[in-house]
Amino acid sequence: MKVSILLKQHVGGTCIPIIKENEVVKKGQLIAIPDGLGANIHSSVYGKVASIEKDRIIIQLDDNQSDEYIKIKDNDNYLELIKEAGIVGAGGAGFPTHVKLNVDLNGGCVIANAAECEPTLNHNIEMIKKSSEYVIKGLKYVMKITNAQSGYIAIKPKHKDAVKVLLNACKNEENIEVKYLPNMYPAGDERVIVREILGVLLKPGQLPVEANTVISNVETLKNIVLAIEERKPVITKDITVGGRLTEAKKGKVFLDVPIGISAKYFIKKCGGYVEPHGEIVIGGPFTGRHGEEDSPIMKTTGGVLVSMPFPNTHKKVGVLACECGAQEERLKEIASKMGAEVVVTAKCKRMKEVNGRFRCDKPGVCPGQAETVIYLKKHGAEAILTGSCEG
Ligand code: SF4
Repeated sequence: MKVSILLKQHVGGTCIPIIKENEVVKKGQLIAIPDGLGANIHSSVYGKVASIEKDRIIIQLDDNQSDEYIKIKDNDNYLELIKEAGIVGAGGAGFPTHVKLNVDLNGGCVIANAAECEPTLNHNIEMIKKSSEYVIKGLKYVMKITNAQSGYIAIKPKHKDAVKVLLNACKNEENIEVKYLPNMYPAGDERVIVREILGVLLKPGQLPVEANTVISNVETLKNIVLAIEERKPVITKDITVGGRLTEAKKGKVFLDVPIGISAKYFIKKCGGYVEPHGEIVIGGPFTGRHGEEDSPIMKTTGGVLVSMPFPNTHKKVGVLACECGAQEERLKEIASKMGAEVVVTAKCKRMKEVNGRFRCDKPGVCPGQAETVIYLKKHGAEAILTGSCEG
């Protein structure tokens, strides 16, 4: 068996390999370093480097895989440990955590993002139920690093068991509180969290730090705790596997899987496909991208989902995109897989251009789309393909 460790698993540039082909590597060993903005990459297995490609390092696994790993270098500075461990936003954003946390919040607050917003994905909630201490400890470390006074855990009330566990876990914590998000998508969007938890409206393009806040996904907090307390680099990921799979139709959670394992491994683990099946999606149903059986798990991978086959239509379609759902490119890709012709495109009317990128004015406060649908129809659309959250 081989693992395929991508050299770009984060916001920033592609990492530079620091090992050679045929070299024997140990689990936890540093194998690639950033070139500018980025994060260290470590081997997730014991094995031998089979090849080094432009975008990945392929490692042939040894038969014996011990749980032991090479620890990151000791350091009294938490931010340095986080940097050394190669931690990036595990919720999907992939921004290097040591850069994000290098702020002084002047007594502001840190919010643990436990929204687990995308349908089907459930690994964050399962992790909380199993190991809520990671969330509490992680919050405390981040509060210390950023000079924050309060910590909040943002979660949807529908996750009753996880809420109960969290309420119990922080009952003796003076500065940490559980706060509720609306049961909607995209409640996990950072600006939605700031709006719902703090009552502060951030403009499109503004970051939570402008409200003296840092938001960290709960799995990122877990990785921070593991780096600080166990000197563990990021070599595993929590994921949900689901969709048209015999034993995982509603989603099955796998915690701590080695980074670099292929989607195919999990498809087999879940009993194989339910036929007929459509494409493999890496990520959640809303924001995931097309994947292949050999797509490897990355530091930001949340899901391996198998869709239904796309309906075959030769219609002329209009594409209606939203910031928080599938983007125009992805919708066009889906249209082409349906055999449809895209004749017109539009964006949700709340989307505004900020620094060359379209962003939603008020995520989750979604308008009706009737006007835009009429526009698309007027321009020849016989059917509409949309990634908009509501409306
Ligand atoms: S307002 Fe529009 S762009 Fe914003 S989240 Fe809702 S549907 Fe998406």
